[in-house]
Amino acid sequence: MRILPVLAAVSLSSTLIAAPVSASTPTLGPTAYGSGGGIATVDATATAAGLDVLRHGGNAIDAAVAAAVTLGVTEPFVAGPASGGFLVYYDAKRHRVSTIDGRETGPATMTPTYFIDPADGLPYDFQEARVSGLSTGVPGALATWDTALRQWGTRSLASLLGPAAKVADRGFPVDAQFRQQINDNLAAFGQFDSTKALYLPGGAPPALGSTQRNPDLADTYRQIAAKGIGAFYHGPIGADLVKTVQHPPISANPVGTWAYPIRPGVLTMKDLAAYQIRRPAPTVSDFRGLDVYGMSTPSSGGTAVSEALNIIEKADPKNVTQVLHTYLEASALAFADRGRYVGAYTGNDVLRKLTSDRWAAQRACHISPAVAMVKPVAPGDINASGCTPATATLTPDSGLSTTNITVSDRWGNVVEWTFTLEQFGGNGIVVPGRGFMLNNELTDFNFTPTQGTAPDPNLPGPGKRPRSSMAPTIVLKDGKPLLALGSPGGASIITTVLQILVNRLMLGMTLPEAMAAPRASQRNTAGIQAEPAFRTTYGPALSALGHTFGPDMAELGAATAMEFTRHGGLIASAEPVRRGGGAAAVVHPK
Ligand code: GLU
Repeated sequence: MRILPVLAAVSLSSTLIAAPVSASTPTLGPTAYGSGGGIATVDATATAAGLDVLRHGGNAIDAAVAAAVTLGVTEPFVAGPASGGFLVYYDAKRHRVSTIDGRETGPATMTPTYFIDPADGLPYDFQEARVSGLSTGVPGALATWDTALRQWGTRSLASLLGPAAKVADRGFPVDAQFRQQINDNLAAFGQFDSTKALYLPGGAPPALGSTQRNPDLADTYRQIAAKGIGAFYHGPIGADLVKTVQHPPISANPVGTWAYPIRPGVLTMKDLAAYQIRRPAPTVSDFRGLDVYGMSTPSSGGTAVSEALNIIEKADPKNVTQVLHTYLEASALAFADRGRYVGAYTGNDVLRKLTSDRWAAQRACHISPAVAMVKPVAPGDINASGCTPATATLTPDSGLSTTNITVSDRWGNVVEWTFTLEQFGGNGIVVPGRGFMLNNELTDFNFTPTQGTAPDPNLPGPGKRPRSSMAPTIVLKDGKPLLALGSPGGASIITTVLQILVNRLMLGMTLPEAMAAPRASQRNTAGIQAEPAFRTTYGPALSALGHTFGPDMAELGAATAMEFTRHGGLIASAEPVRRGGGAAAVVHPK
């Protein structure tokens, strides 16, 4: 996180008149209390950009896009023009929750064996697939920005890109997180001239505190501002993207060694031109009288969160150990079902079944308060009724890096939005002359079937969207927003969102406490991934029930959230510590 006073944010906007900032203007910490709308992101510059828009009369969508395009500059390894994601929106006037699916799509020529090496018939190693042209899908970011603003916003995309372009021109200080993300990708970034030039000046990561500028990205933003998103999907920016995918700019003088051949991709301009935003109905389920809205397919976030909450509700645990035990068991069951049934083309009938109380009863029957199930557990049989036995094994999911923003405005609209390049640094390739990195989202497909003799819902296919775990979630009470939250973290996004909800709604924590509490993730694997503090605090009691821990994770997720309190009050909440800490702000601080 880059800390900066709110004052700096106001100067981001050239088109708006700066509001007077009092001497008591707070710096942007992880929690803000107040009213009049608010914003939480992982990054202070992005939060400040969104706050600036809110303060000057923009609505939640305007502010969310302002923050998203700023994150494209300051968090270029997870965001930007080549990213994709999912937005859930509560429209206060219409009392309606809607979504935007801006997920990447595969090329029209994509087949189920896309990630199989024709030379030996074996799947590519994950890193081999990732750092290649093959992993890049058609990005949905720009179409999402454009659609959201047209549908619900009051500002033009051009007016929001302008300030972000200035941040790219002016630069920002390199902090420890930024440097670490480059260091973690040294060998991948070092293989490409364009990436080296931007992120490995002189062959090494930029020094701490040095200024990271990106004039190419500033130009890209200005071109999009001037010409619209057609410059990307139908124009020269898209043409450069396609050229980079088909001919990765492999360096003759690499930094570090890369263990794999770097394969070209097959994405075409036709694929870009064919890109369409989807607007699926949100998933919705009831939890203790609250309505939980989430993201439908191709994300598995909404169904998995709903299913697990329904199971927890059914099991009705009574003390802290039992609540956590049930949370872990319900997560494992939901992940088994997700693996078996949820992909881009899952039918609505199946999605409805998975999020129903009846299905929760069929699954909750496996949970004993006295002893943990042996993992992995098998998926339930969607065609059977009653407590169906376990029969199959599953491949666990992995993933790490994304970003999430939560925004509300004075009118009561709420935006919950998660987007990503998939891995930190996407496929490792900066598009030459354009300043943005390519996603590796297509590696979210299963490379080979994972479901034994049953069909795998997440195999590659022509123009198909890979299954995601992104879980932007809005919880309504009596039809009005109570909570909004989301997180990065690959498949652990689902469990992070679930755990924050369980902490807040069942364990009596405040929202900031629920965010800060140590996390654990059970995704239907033998061992529970846990932050060390979780294992130390709850491990003994859970192990006594038969839970197994391992591996430890330094951090799970980097969430943002908001709670809407009485009389128009709100709590904007970001991480106090994880990923360097996030930045929350409200329009009228209390
Ligand atoms: N690509 C992942 C997904 O869509 C998210 C990546 C991450 O958070 O690490 O689920």
